[in-house]
Amino acid sequence: MKNYDLIIIGAGPAGLTLAWKVAEKGYSVLVLDKKSSASDVAYLTAGSRIDFKEWDLPKKMGHPLKKLYFSSKNEYFIKNGSAFMINRRVLLKALEKKARKNGVELKYSSTVNKVDFSNKEIDKIIYSGKKEEFTAKAKFFADCSGVGRVFERYYNILGNHKVENALGIEYIVPLKSEPHTLDLYVGSHYNGGYGWLCPLNKKQAILGYGTFNHENFPKLKSFIEGMFELERVNERVTNRPIEVNSGLLRTGAPLKKFTRENLILVGDVALQANPLVGEGVRFVMDSARMASAAIENAIKKDKKRVQIYDDMWIKKYYKIYSMCYKIQKVLRIYSCNDKIVDASVRCAKKFPDKMVHDALWHYKFDRNLIKTAFREVIMSSFKGAKPKK
Ligand SMILES: Cc1cc2nc3c(=O)[nH]c(=O)nc-3n(C[C@H](O)[C@H](O)[C@H](O)COP(=O)(O)OP(=O)(O)OC[C@H]3O[C@@H](n4cnc5c(N)ncnc54)[C@H](O)[C@@H]3O)c2cc1C
Repeated sequence: MKNYDLIIIGAGPAGLTLAWKVAEKGYSVLVLDKKSSASDVAYLTAGSRIDFKEWDLPKKMGHPLKKLYFSSKNEYFIKNGSAFMINRRVLLKALEKKARKNGVELKYSSTVNKVDFSNKEIDKIIYSGKKEEFTAKAKFFADCSGVGRVFERYYNILGNHKVENALGIEYIVPLKSEPHTLDLYVGSHYNGGYGWLCPLNKKQAILGYGTFNHENFPKLKSFIEGMFELERVNERVTNRPIEVNSGLLRTGAPLKKFTRENLILVGDVALQANPLVGEGVRFVMDSARMASAAIENAIKKDKKRVQIYDDMWIKKYYKIYSMCYKIQKVLRIYSCNDKIVDASVRCAKKFPDKMVHDALWHYKFDRNLIKTAFREVIMSSFKGAKPKK
């Protein structure tokens, strides 16, 4: 039986960042994942405002996005901005390399079969790899398994907290034009969700649709096929899918507790993707960095110190996530009304590019402007404004 400082389940962006950061401090880490390799991912969409320099990651793993095309049923606006479509496979490989370089033991095709407790703490786990079964002990355990909830379910840390699952489908398709423009599509057709068309590189793009509406889950393919009826989609991409993927995102109002005894939750398992549009990668990586600082503190000083991770996260993210969650709930309802959405898009056309960029990628909202926009939208949708051609 091997003994580690930390055992992590899940080698997504959260688990690999946590492993890298904890191992960097000289602690022993084991990471387990059921997938066959780092790049064996369920889906590829990863639009982000990540700062590659801050993470010492090569900028070329992100395809630059310079324009946003936002459209409702009858209206659209185009704004300049700056973000990236991260190549998720390349990112995970790079994080894996950093983890391994610092001595992390990584085991793919592995699942946890049994968890043993002692004095309420997780004491050891039995897991199976490709052929054999192993037993391993650790001072701390981290659940970074996203929707898997491998360790979390034993403690049920989330308790009665309402978790909402959003399902997304994506087609990887040949790209014909505008290699640096991200399209977002909203309106009644999307039934409270939204569609996206985002270049992955100069030759391929991701056409995607995501929703919270469980009734739509079995019909996702027909929704995305419906997107090809849009003239703009047909102009930009070819309906010849190279890959079809889907993924589930756990979201909801933000949590205040991510630790229990010697267990720590990081990433989607702890609803750490921003609830407004589901941007998760840079936030789960940042959360992992916070968790690593708390684990180091707890190993060095006192086990209970691991709870400082809760405080750090709340201080940085709780307020903004709560607001984003509220906005998302309102949008989910109003985005089904084309009159209101068209009026909103007409109104947003007048906003400076930076304001739209800050709202979409930095979650910064100018309160006065929102109030004025809200009044205008209500007035104009009551007047029954005619759709512009
Ligand atoms: C369709 C879709 C589109 C998205 N678009 C974006 C976007 O544009 N930009 C963005 O920043 N974020 C986006 N997100 C969110 C983002 O992908 C997540 O927030 C992020 O990947 C969470 O990282 P994680 O490490 O917590 O979980 P994951 O990336 O889900 O990793 C969890 C890992 O745990 C492993 N695992 C699960 N169960 C088990 C088990 N039982 N045993 C062993 N291993 C297990 C899985 O194999 C996986 O490798 C999107 C999500 C979805 C679903």
